[in-house]
Amino acid sequence: MFSEHATRMTRQRKAILETLRSTKSHPTADWIYEQVRHQIPDISLGTVYRNLKLLKEQGEILELNYGSTFSRYDGNAANHYHFRCEECGRVFDVDLPVSCALEHELEAKTGFEVHSHRLEFYGLCSGCRRKRESALGAAGAQAAVNQAQSQEAAQEYAHGEQAGQPSHLALENQGAHGPRH
Ligand SMILES: [Zn+2]
Ligand SMILES: [Zn+2]
Repeated sequence: MFSEHATRMTRQRKAILETLRSTKSHPTADWIYEQVRHQIPDISLGTVYRNLKLLKEQGEILELNYGSTFSRYDGNAANHYHFRCEECGRVFDVDLPVSCALEHELEAKTGFEVHSHRLEFYGLCSGCRRKRESALGAAGAQAAVNQAQSQEAAQEYAHGEQAGQPSHLALENQGAHGPRH
């Protein structure tokens, strides 16, 4: 028989797991806490942490640890790869097959018994990349305008020097007509 306490624990854990599985954003414990509070207003952040730890030990979820920043949690416990944006901090699932070959290679090289591996990619997500490129584009356009202005000035100077001499275009045209005569 479940005690009332055990039932409550189960209900809390279920709400946490469902919240985590409802998103692809790999949220922090704080975010999960804010969401679960809509369903269970008196739940504490400590309870959320305890349950996340338990769910992780049970193999229901993954904990993604990013050094000094907060852990993020993943409702998909099957091994898969991640991409973390260094600009906005978002974590994305990467649609690449998990490489068993990599584990076998390491086993063959070392004699270790490899159980699993984690692979994370870092860089800029497409949104942040677009933002950066349009910022660079604006700076690049200004640079092009400046360059065009200085080229115009240089051309004016050159025209002054070559006044009275036949242009390259005229010489090329003469050459092109040559074989016909
Ligand atoms: Zn980003
Ligand atoms: Zn994931």
